[in-house]
Amino acid sequence: MGRRLLFLGPPGAGKGTQAAMLAGALGVPHVSTGEILRRAVAEGTELGRRAEAIMAAGDLVPDDIVVAIVRERLAADDAACGYLLDGFPRTLNQAEALDAGGDAFEIVVLLSVPEAELLSRLAARAGGRADDNEETIRRRLEVYRKETEPLVTYYAARGVSPAEVDGVGTIEDVFARIVLALVKPA
Ligand code: AMP
Repeated sequence: MGRRLLFLGPPGAGKGTQAAMLAGALGVPHVSTGEILRRAVAEGTELGRRAEAIMAAGDLVPDDIVVAIVRERLAADDAACGYLLDGFPRTLNQAEALDAGGDAFEIVVLLSVPEAELLSRLAARAGGRADDNEETIRRRLEVYRKETEPLVTYYAARGVSPAEVDGVGTIEDVFARIVLALVKPA
């Protein structure tokens, strides 16, 4: 099984939870740009100060900033034998920057959840995260459809067809579907 994995899917699809479980099972680091950015905001670093308002609005942090974060993170020793990226790339520019670094993906998982379910899940999570209020949720979904969804076609055109997994169900059910999708011969 490949060791460079990528998780795609709209906000609220459960990417973070499933990505952490799968990375743990495979023994590769789970690299979440959203988590790295939230930590920077909480710590009040220069990066955090630049990202905070953008994240609160549900917009994307500029490509050059996130590309630099990911380059640095993937250069760490623990990522030498693979990694699972969650929340990056989110734009065609980011995907091209990653490809230019020679890091072709072996597996792309696309977690899909219907829009109505996403909205109710995100609303239920509201309060836990600064960007989980109704206006920001709508903006994040819009940004996903416009900027990130085209990556499905981008990877398919490069021979890495995303394995689409139904993200509705219990955490365990969805995880089992992901594992099945990955062991199925292409
Ligand atoms: P997430 O936890 O992946 O939903 O990310 C939370 C927020 O962090 C996003 O709504 C963006 O504002 C920002 N963010 C995370 N990853 C990226 C990325 N790859 N490119 C731009 N912004 C990002």
